Amino acid sequence: MSYFDYAATSPILPEVREAMFKASEKLLGNASALHSKGHLVHEIIENARLNIAKYINANPEEIIFTSGSTESNNMVMHTFTDKNIAISNYEHPSIVASAEAYSKNLHRWSQNQKIPKDITLVSVMLASNEIGTILDLPHGNFYLHSDATAAIGKIPIDVKKLDVDYLTISGHKIGGPSGIGVLYIKKDSPIKPLLFGGNQENNLRPGSHNTIDIIGFDAAIKYALEHDTPKLYKEKVAPLKDYLKNAILKNIPNTIINTPKEPSLPDILNVSFPGAEGESVQLMLDESDIQVATGSACASGKPSAVLMALTNNPYIASSSIRFSLGLQTTKSDIDKIIEILPNIIAKLRSISAVGEQNE
Ligand code: PMP
Repeated sequence: MSYFDYAATSPILPEVREAMFKASEKLLGNASALHSKGHLVHEIIENARLNIAKYINANPEEIIFTSGSTESNNMVMHTFTDKNIAISNYEHPSIVASAEAYSKNLHRWSQNQKIPKDITLVSVMLASNEIGTILDLPHGNFYLHSDATAAIGKIPIDVKKLDVDYLTISGHKIGGPSGIGVLYIKKDSPIKPLLFGGNQENNLRPGSHNTIDIIGFDAAIKYALEHDTPKLYKEKVAPLKDYLKNAILKNIPNTIINTPKEPSLPDILNVSFPGAEGESVQLMLDESDIQVATGSACASGKPSAVLMALTNNPYIASSSIRFSLGLQTTKSDIDKIIEILPNIIAKLRSISAVGEQNE
């Protein structure tokens, strides 16, 4: 398997699959039911809450289960309806679009600016899912949210050290299932539900619990904890990322590396091949059973808004490819890509008018 799209969705870990399978065979009962089977499910969910809270150094009362990071992000933005919100240039569409929908004024903040005085909420992701940049979080007289979806399992996360009011994480980026996520809400920070009609999750997120996926998320977190995955990524994945970067630079001329050397995530390498349109590269690689992303999976179809904001150059943005590696990536996966990629880029550049202009 030459899968270089772990940052979109990572393969489900065997430990996760087994935990979910066992639970689906044995568990019966709604966590809200008062009988013994319901109690058992309730206990399992609370145990998962405890483990996941501990993993980010939160208290279990401070986290709620959601359907994923999109919902968690929306919930925070919705809480600040008609307030002034500032977001970084790196944010995922689920932040950008919900902030646009709910805020009174939306301020686009770049790291070297001061946060304006009239801002109530600031949202800055912990690390970029597109480029891999690890961001500094600003602090001041405002509420602070961080989308840690790309960072979870890759670098240590401690909500107290980060000093955030809200933090978003999702199951499917760390070998768990998709459709399950968590929102951390610091004690006494305001939060408003998006949905109504049940008292689950402290009246903040009604609806019967997604028990099997919660169990899967918990198993993925247990794996991350027991295997110290941030250390594994640093020792095993980051050198492979460097190997890929150097091989690309050596074998493909006129290449722009968009990922900064430091501080960046160990698993993400974003590269532009001006003159070769990203989606064409993606499709041609897929013909050889190699999967990559063009910017963010959710944003495919138009040039990456993040790269546009950072470079203001449509040629760089539309020719960018995100390679994201995982714990299962091997050197031979990278050798396979390097065997094929230079020819694909050369071919696309030779037929592209844009390429001729640029080279
Ligand atoms: N934020 C970031 C940084 C992401 O990478 C993603 C997934 N592409 C999301 C939010 C949305 O997460 P989910 O798929 O769990 O809704």
